[in-house]
Amino acid sequence: MNRFLAEPDIAAFSALFGTTVVKTTVDAVLRGARAAAVRDDARRGVPAFGELLDRARRALARVESNELVEVLNGTGILLHTNLGRAPLAPAALAAMTSIAAGYSNLEFDLDAGTRGSRYARVSTLLRETTGAEDALVVNNCAAAVLLILDTFGKGREVVVSRNQLIEIGGGFRLPDVLARSGATLVEVGATNKVYLRDFERALTPNTALLMRSHTSNYRIEGFTADVAAADLAALGKRAGVPVVEDLGGGALVDLARYGLPHERTVREAVADGVDLVAFSGDKLLGGPQCGIVAGTTAAIARLRANPLLRALRVDKATLAALAATLRLYLRDEDLETIPFYGMLAWSQGDLMFRARTVASAIQSIWAGADTAPGTVRDLATQAYAGGGSAPLATIPSHAVAIRRDGVSANALAATLRRTPPRLIGRVEGDEVVVDLRAIPSARDADVVDAVVRATA
Ligand SMILES: *Cc1c(COP(=O)(O)O)cnc(C)c1O
Repeated sequence: MNRFLAEPDIAAFSALFGTTVVKTTVDAVLRGARAAAVRDDARRGVPAFGELLDRARRALARVESNELVEVLNGTGILLHTNLGRAPLAPAALAAMTSIAAGYSNLEFDLDAGTRGSRYARVSTLLRETTGAEDALVVNNCAAAVLLILDTFGKGREVVVSRNQLIEIGGGFRLPDVLARSGATLVEVGATNKVYLRDFERALTPNTALLMRSHTSNYRIEGFTADVAAADLAALGKRAGVPVVEDLGGGALVDLARYGLPHERTVREAVADGVDLVAFSGDKLLGGPQCGIVAGTTAAIARLRANPLLRALRVDKATLAALAATLRLYLRDEDLETIPFYGMLAWSQGDLMFRARTVASAIQSIWAGADTAPGTVRDLATQAYAGGGSAPLATIPSHAVAIRRDGVSANALAATLRRTPPRLIGRVEGDEVVVDLRAIPSARDADVVDAVVRATA
């Protein structure tokens, strides 16, 4: 045990999770080896120290993988929900660090020396970036929808068209959330065709809301008809019923400038006259996980008065990161410091250059060995924005494709995932494809390292 603990690699794990965990893990490896030696073939004896050290390293790497650890996203899906969605901008990280490390005026008015509002500052920025009269921040967009339905819908009717009864990831289904908030769902229209008159006919004295949701993860194509948000908003005004839109992605800029299809922006939803627009902070906005509701003064005031808001509130670090991210939208030249927009800005030509550089670096390291363990090449690919936006739109991208002789692509992908820097690629045929668009260029050397190690 002392020999193991003295090994630099093992000592590094001790520094990470303490000696107790390391000892328990190494001990399990040693007990396993002893038991196998007794059971299987006593003549072979216990494996050599080097082999046991390798096993201990792998076991400890598995322990580490169960912690929350950094990975490199080679999937080509930029806002990958399973990989934590939007990386934060340097300005957001700096704001989080300074606010989270100490005290702040979170709920304190420095002028008056009295209690202040947690949300006032960020609401001002949200007004500027969305054009709404007022805004509110909660835990995530799902919480925003829940708060809206709880505030307006309880014991009343919420009208939704059949083509927008969405299920987003993680089992969040609009009909179920409606039921949980005590509202009655009134479905109108058909799956493919919905008209304004369908909404008009559904209005009763008990109608609480007219609701739209962004069909962010599917498309209905062909023989279709839909109701424009502006028409629904006008109907709501005539009938005195608030109109709410679950926008999901929450773009604050037009994605068309990056060659993607136009994605409805928050500002457009507000301009259409929608009373409440709910969207995520960590999708197209590129900020921390949170849910934002932008809307009219009157409607936001009703949300503020709901005691449920207290249970859905966000912490100071989130507010600091959100405010810092929103500020980057105020100056065009700052936008691409938000990693998502920085990733979109890479030209395919530049990504191809990076892929070729990575591939040839791997090849030249392999050339130093007797025989190359496999093949590596660069490859034109398609990336996706992800995060429930433009589900079908592809972004031309570039990747390195790796094959290891005598090892399946699935096994190679698993090795790349399990050992630091934990590179997540996708399996295509007998290759692992690592798309470079969501990997910071400063990490290309880590991609080289990861591949060389996984094929050693
Ligand atoms: C993603 C999404 C949500 C949920 O957002 P979270 O911030 O993950 O809670 C809700 N509605 C739509 C339309 C979405 O795309």
